Amino acid sequence: MKIRDILGQGRPTLSFEVFPPKTEDKYETVEEAAKEIAQLSPDFMSVTYGAGGGTSRYTVDIAAALNNEYHVPTLAHLTCVSSTRQQVACLLRELKDRGIENVLALRGDIPKEGRAAHDYQYASQLIEEIKKSGDFCIGAACYPEGHVESANKAEDIAHLKEKVEAGCDFVTTQMFFDNNILYNYLYRIRERGITVPVVAGIMPVTSALQIKRICQMSGTYLPSRFKAIVDRFGDNPAAMKQAGIAYATEQIIDLIANGVNGIHVYSMNKPDVAGRIQESLSEILGRGNG
Ligand code: FAD
Repeated sequence: MKIRDILGQGRPTLSFEVFPPKTEDKYETVEEAAKEIAQLSPDFMSVTYGAGGGTSRYTVDIAAALNNEYHVPTLAHLTCVSSTRQQVACLLRELKDRGIENVLALRGDIPKEGRAAHDYQYASQLIEEIKKSGDFCIGAACYPEGHVESANKAEDIAHLKEKVEAGCDFVTTQMFFDNNILYNYLYRIRERGITVPVVAGIMPVTSALQIKRICQMSGTYLPSRFKAIVDRFGDNPAAMKQAGIAYATEQIIDLIANGVNGIHVYSMNKPDVAGRIQESLSEILGRGNG
C-alpha cells in the first residue's frame, strides 16, 4: 500500500523505523527485532539505508520481509550521494520486483573520505529519477531546525520546495524535542505553498550517551525540561529509558492534539520501546478496547 494513501485517511497514524545491520552476522538479530515491531501492526515501517550504500542489500531484504511476510506497508530509504545512476536504477528495479511501493529519497551525508560517485548533488535529482522509473510513492527528509549545511531556514525551505516540485508525496522531519519548533516550521512551509503531508519524526531517547551523540551530530535544540530529565536520570539506565519514553509519548499526544496526524517513531530496532509507546497511545490511535 502507498504511504500517501495511508496519510490521506485523515486520522492519526503511527509508524516505526528500523536500521539494517552493518555486518552479516548481525542480520538475524535485526530481522528478528524488525519482525517483532511489525507484529504491533503499525501503519507503516521504514528501513534506513546505511551511509555509503554498502549495506543496501540488507535494507532491501528487511523491507521485503516486512512488506511481504508481515504485510506492513514498508518505506525503503535510499541515498544517492555515493551512487551512480546505474546503481540507483538497479536498486529501484529490485524494490519494484519485490513489491516495495514506497521510497524515502535522500541525498545522504557527504562522506569525509570523499564520494564514490558524483552523479547526484541533491535529493531533488533522485526524486525526479524515481518519479520517472515507476509508480512509487516518494517521501523526502525535512529539517524543522534547518539542515546543518544550509545558510538559513528560508533557503532550506526553498530547497524543500524543489523536492516537492520534483514529485515527493510526503516529507518526514528530523527529530526535534520541542513541538513549538515544528508548529512554527509548519506555518512557514505552508506559507511557501508546500502542502504535502508532514510526518513528525520523534526520537525516544533511552540513554544519556544517545542524546550526547545526537547533539554532537545534528545540534538539535534541547528544551530545559528535557535537559533536566537527562541530568536527573542519565546515570540510571532504567529510569532514563522510562523517562525518555514518557517524554516522547507526551510529545506525540501534544502533536496529535494539535492536528499533526503523521507520527514516525525512530524506534532504533527496539521492539519494547515501540510497544510501550503504541500501548500508551492505543485509545488516541483508536486501537484500544474502550
Ligand atoms: P537534500 O535535500 O539534497 O539537502 C541537502 C542540503 O543541500 C541541504 O542543506 C539543502 O538545503 C541543500 N540543497 C538542496 N538543494 C539545493 C540546491 N539546489 N542548491 C543548493 N543547496 C541545495 N541518512 C542516511 O545515510 N540513511 C538514511 O536512511 C537516512 N534517513 C533519513 C531520514 C530522515 C527522515 C531524515 C530527516 C534524514 C535521514 N538521513 C539518512 C540523513 C540525510 O541523509 C542527511 O541529513 C543528508 O545530509 C541530507 O539529505 P537530504 O536528502 O535531506 O538532502
